[in-house]
Amino acid sequence: MTVLILAEHDGKQIKKATRQAVTAAAAWNAPIHLVVLGHELQAVTAEAAAIAGVSEVICVDAPALAHALAEDVAALLLDLAPKYQVILAPYSAAAKNALPRVAALLDVAMISDVISISAPATYIRPTYAGSVLTTVESSDAVQVLTVRASSFDAAANGPAANIVDHAALAALSSQNQARFVSATHTISDRPELASARVVVTGGRPLETRFDAILNPLAAKLGAAIGATRAAVDAGFAPNDLQVGQTGTVVAPELYIAAGVSGAAQHLAGMKDSKVIVAINLDPDAAIFQVADFGLVADLFEAVPELTAALVAE
Ligand code: FAD
Repeated sequence: MTVLILAEHDGKQIKKATRQAVTAAAAWNAPIHLVVLGHELQAVTAEAAAIAGVSEVICVDAPALAHALAEDVAALLLDLAPKYQVILAPYSAAAKNALPRVAALLDVAMISDVISISAPATYIRPTYAGSVLTTVESSDAVQVLTVRASSFDAAANGPAANIVDHAALAALSSQNQARFVSATHTISDRPELASARVVVTGGRPLETRFDAILNPLAAKLGAAIGATRAAVDAGFAPNDLQVGQTGTVVAPELYIAAGVSGAAQHLAGMKDSKVIVAINLDPDAAIFQVADFGLVADLFEAVPELTAALVAE
């Protein structure tokens, strides 16, 4: 048995979620291979090969993969699949797009958002926005799954793995009807939301003062900024900041929620945070049920006061 992990990277660095997926894959006690797809991957491949527990890194490097489409990723994984009994990836937007295609093409079950592997082929995953934890068992010959990265520790570095080059499929992207048009990236010097140690999240009441109120606090704490869906839908914060069931799932050391009601769909994305601080005008707000520290106050006063009282990190 061998486990194949689809590596997450940004073209320059391996994402922490990949290291967390390696820890999840250790449950099989079997060789772990990482596949790295993209273009000009020297640095990423070298970093992948240094992750403890990884015995082989498969590098698929081609100009056509600089902006890899889910159809192409699925086709490449399918090409590699005959050698593997487990195909695994972190539960990210890209993997959520690619892996169900692989599962469908292999005619096996897709097992998504696994938070614990009780035994090989027995998994625990949240359902109903995290209100219920379900134990699922799959008897499929090939297990295709995504894992919630924040539920697993990041693997450290270890002895260097073999690096193997794999040719990209000749028919890439011409074999499907999708093509890459453009990508718009939010440039930020803040830590990445999914792996940040501290997250400061704002809700709908911040309105057009979202950045003005939250940025100074986040800067002092070295924090990533998050938002509720209501704040995103109203246009006060960009979509990629959304925390929750339909956004990013986070589990930082410290989560500060300002003007966040604590709807179940929001809690599904942050309730595993180690310490939760909530600031809300309403003493009955649901967010206080998961908060370790609650402040019934007007955020427009409390957040600037908190920011002023903090010494910069
Ligand atoms: P509100 O519900 O408007 O709450 C604002 C809060 O701020 C209130 O508690 C209020 O008391 C408090 N407040 C007001 N003024 C102040 C002030 N001056 N100082 C302090 N506190 C103040 N939501 C997500 O966040 N993430 C998701 O991924 C997500 N996915 C969803 C998926 C589905 C299928 C559905 C149906 C909904 C989803 N939602 C999600 C939406 C979710 O149900 C809530 O509507 C949303 O989280 C509410 O956002 P909010 O707390 O900012 O706004």
